[in-house]
Amino acid sequence: MTVRVRFAPSPTGLLHVGNARVALVNWLFAHARGGAFLLRLDDTDTERGTDAFAQAIEDDLHWLGIGWDAFARQSDRTDRYRDAFERLRAAGRLYACYETPEELEFKRRRQMARGEPPRYDRAGLSMTEAERERYRAAGHEPYWRFLLEDGDIAWTDLIRGPVHFEGRHLSDPVLFRADGRPLYTLCSVVDDIDLGITHVIRGEDHVANTAVQLQLAAALGADPGAFAFAHMPLLADVSGAPLSKRLGSLSLRQLRDEGIEPMALAGLLARIGTPDPVEAVDRLEDLLPGFDLARFGRATPRFDRDELGRLNAALLQRMPYEAVEDRLTALGMDDFGARLWLAVRANISTLAEAGDWYRICRGDLEIERQEEGFLAEAAKLLPDEPWDGETWAAWTARVRDATERRGRNLFRPLRLALTGREHGPEMSALLPEIGRTRALYRLVGRESAVAGGGVVVPLGRKKS
Ligand code: GLU
Repeated sequence: MTVRVRFAPSPTGLLHVGNARVALVNWLFAHARGGAFLLRLDDTDTERGTDAFAQAIEDDLHWLGIGWDAFARQSDRTDRYRDAFERLRAAGRLYACYETPEELEFKRRRQMARGEPPRYDRAGLSMTEAERERYRAAGHEPYWRFLLEDGDIAWTDLIRGPVHFEGRHLSDPVLFRADGRPLYTLCSVVDDIDLGITHVIRGEDHVANTAVQLQLAAALGADPGAFAFAHMPLLADVSGAPLSKRLGSLSLRQLRDEGIEPMALAGLLARIGTPDPVEAVDRLEDLLPGFDLARFGRATPRFDRDELGRLNAALLQRMPYEAVEDRLTALGMDDFGARLWLAVRANISTLAEAGDWYRICRGDLEIERQEEGFLAEAAKLLPDEPWDGETWAAWTARVRDATERRGRNLFRPLRLALTGREHGPEMSALLPEIGRTRALYRLVGRESAVAGGGVVVPLGRKKS
């Protein structure tokens, strides 16, 4: 059997980490089994769905490294849903209903007050022709419900294990609205059959849908046993509270804008909820070895934004210059250089933060000098260029001997004067990047440096 899975977002909002996790697990499952991954846009909700969200979903999946082998959108498939309507109706599995939302709400409340489960009472089914006629005469079009069968509905979920529902406890779902538009519950089954889906991997908010959809698949002539299901527990935040679907701060777009690398996010999403260690990866394929749906537990996994930040930093820390050169240039940091990158990559948590060190090493920096006498003395001992990784050690040894300063007293004022910061990358790597002219300006001030001779290079950005 060739595995075929689908990721089926509704274009009613931006993808967020919860949806991305479902997409990624589907992708990994398909790729681990040499199968196909389909993107299906569930765009039947024309009131809330937009083309802009549909485009954003595609862009965000690509950003995460997810491509698809096939694409479908429900708005292109209305004929198929019409056809399903005819077949279900002919089989006696669709019935017309006329209740308004208010009437349904009233019934629901009454059931709750009696301690009964809130199920549709099938009043539509037992309506007389005269009653129907009255509705029609008053201009009401019917909407359509699927008549569920009473029996057991059971499947072995690839994450939850054996799942069991009783048909008679479920409410007949509405499949078609009064204006004829089909609803998700139906479309999803028609698509899964037509597109040859073998495994439905989705959030556990769909468990009850699965019970209904198994009966629907059978009513449409498919073998419900042809589908395997895996329902993933929904993500919670660090406090255990559910992540709302439209939580903007955890949209892929927002995370990307905050400088999160896609492979840090993927590394986290592929592993939370499993006992396996979370790690940033270089490519999605690196997550394939050992991937197994059975590793996912039933407990609610917690999404920790700080953990994502740490993975991001760890990923940057091992990135080669070639992997970031174009992006640094796009961020306005041309001629960043491999040496500077190697010097700073362990000290940043997002790529954009490299800009701070770029400005320190390539730009003009106004630094308030402390301990000016000491700095002036140190400036006199600055070696001539060319500078390399040994220059810092050689220079500070001379300064130590001349001033009898040691340790922190020696290094701290120099670092502070040269970078404007208490902490940062190794000075031995930064100093050659800063260069003699800038170093001198920062140690004694531009005017004294120029007056003292030996500095004629105007400071600006170093160009290649
Ligand atoms: N459009 C549905 C959702 O976003 C798809 C659920 C499914 O995978 O069947 O929840």
